[in-house]
Amino acid sequence: MDIRFLGGVDAIGRSALLVNGSLLLDYGLEGGTPVRTPPDVDPDAVVVSHAHLDHVGAVPSLLKGGRRPPIHWTPPTRELADLLARDTLKLQAGRYDRPFTRAEVGALGEASETHGYGEPFTAAGHEVTLFDAGHIPGSAHVLVDDGETRLLYTGDFHVADQRLLTGSTARPEADVVVCESTYADVTRGDRRETERRFARELRETVHRGGTVVVPAFAIGRTQEAMLVCAAHDIDCYVDGMGVAVAKRLRRTPGFLRDFEAFRSAMGNARFVTGGGARRNGSRGRTP
Ligand SMILES: [Zn+2]
Repeated sequence: MDIRFLGGVDAIGRSALLVNGSLLLDYGLEGGTPVRTPPDVDPDAVVVSHAHLDHVGAVPSLLKGGRRPPIHWTPPTRELADLLARDTLKLQAGRYDRPFTRAEVGALGEASETHGYGEPFTAAGHEVTLFDAGHIPGSAHVLVDDGETRLLYTGDFHVADQRLLTGSTARPEADVVVCESTYADVTRGDRRETERRFARELRETVHRGGTVVVPAFAIGRTQEAMLVCAAHDIDCYVDGMGVAVAKRLRRTPGFLRDFEAFRSAMGNARFVTGGGARRNGSRGRTP
């Protein structure tokens, strides 16, 4: 098996791994102005581990010039990749060096092939299976078998349970493991205790007439914060791309740990839709 790293490795962003010259695993984007993509490549098929910009951000550019390599991913990854691509277009509007065009984003649907966890499929002549990585909704470990060697590309993964997702437990056998290690040297405290402290501080601040602003990543973290607020009976306003992400996640209920809890967290949260609502939210008034 021939494995080539086209990005990632010693830097965060632009993750891309080419297997046997034909199967591409992830094709990420590095933020900034201008954004940076991995080197140009024309694979026979693509598998995407999860919908974070540094793993999926440059995927639409693989469809340029009428190219249509099949893109394999889970249903939530497909939903969120579409959202990220549209957001990237918006942020890069008017720039001549945009990483991809509106037409290429529009073609994602044509190239897309979705798969559930544990359901093997063929991609560029390889047998591929996705396993739940517990990182964000739809995130996957990717197991690739070329008939001689089994490669496990972990992608980003999380082993502890969150309210939104169950931690990853899949440990498929492999000959080679390419493992995400960005936070490998960080020891985290007990999650339940951290959550209790967080909720207590929110409540105390609000009780004193204050407002708490929680900066959170749009994918995963914002919805986890919504679930924490609902579980502790705390009112919350949700702004930014986290709103669109939450709405998309309603379409793929089977990929969340507890869809009913997620639904009631959606009911508990107030979505900020405009400047007036944003001002009211920051003052703790109902929009
Ligand atoms: Zn990630």
